[in-house]
Amino acid sequence: MFSLDGRVAIVTGASSGLGAVFARTLAEAGADVVLAARREDRLAGTREAVERAGRRAVTVRTDVSRPEDCQALVDTAMAEFGKVDVLVNNAGVGTAVPATRETPEQFRSVIDVNLNGCYWMAQACGRVMQPGSSIVNISSILGLTTAGLPQAAYAASKAGLIGLTRDLAQQWTGRKGIRVNALAPGFFASEMTDSYAEGYLESQMGRVLMNRPGDPEELAAALVFLVSDAGGYVTGTTLPVEGGLLTS
Ligand code: NAP
Repeated sequence: MFSLDGRVAIVTGASSGLGAVFARTLAEAGADVVLAARREDRLAGTREAVERAGRRAVTVRTDVSRPEDCQALVDTAMAEFGKVDVLVNNAGVGTAVPATRETPEQFRSVIDVNLNGCYWMAQACGRVMQPGSSIVNISSILGLTTAGLPQAAYAASKAGLIGLTRDLAQQWTGRKGIRVNALAPGFFASEMTDSYAEGYLESQMGRVLMNRPGDPEELAAALVFLVSDAGGYVTGTTLPVEGGLLTS
């Protein structure tokens, strides 16, 4: 039930961090993968990892904040593979700016990528996806709680993504047979977490029942569950994968 043999997946933000692990893991489960992000040189590394897993990969330079880029990405996937079974809306940016100092441009740029970009991608995929397809939006525990930093834009974008997930599931599950879910990761090693101030991650670990950050493979396993037949009765939901942080 966890096999993705013969499926075609799009992963945004596949040039680093979690997106690169998601792409490789989907390929190991059997999917061909369309890889999207702005840094093409970094996408090439992920393409090699997918190919090492024995699957086909195509890279498409994409800025998800541009609806025309999102449409072009889906058009390329359709031209190369003839279908899109899975969308992983993973591209995201993190910021921490005190609310009294955050400029409209700073706030808008985070919403534009983390929330609007996921909607442009879902719209373009929703137009071509066939019954049995599945979308997973990568939200965050920051959509559900706080974590000690001033993150209004990031938290609003990730909470918005949970609402978007619920509504697209309502619109598309019954009518189109497309399941729509979200993952809410806790702390996982990536370029985003590498940029945290020294001591920040450690300061949050006391809240995590597992007492450690997550291994990206542990998140990718939850992704495979959601997009495969194993998750066939799951839609409209947000699955936290956070080592128990939300209990605190
Ligand atoms: P990361 O290594 O910084 O990866 C972010 C990815 O998003 C990069 O591939 C980046 O590629 C892409 N991206 C950023 N802006 C983009 C744009 N405008 N258009 C297309 N792609 C764009 O961080 P990560 O931790 O793996 O984050 C992946 C996702 O997980 C994000 O949505 C993040 O909010 C979420 N998340 C992460 C954690 C964690 O602990 N790591 C926890 C909760 C949620 P380019 O720069 O090449 O475009």
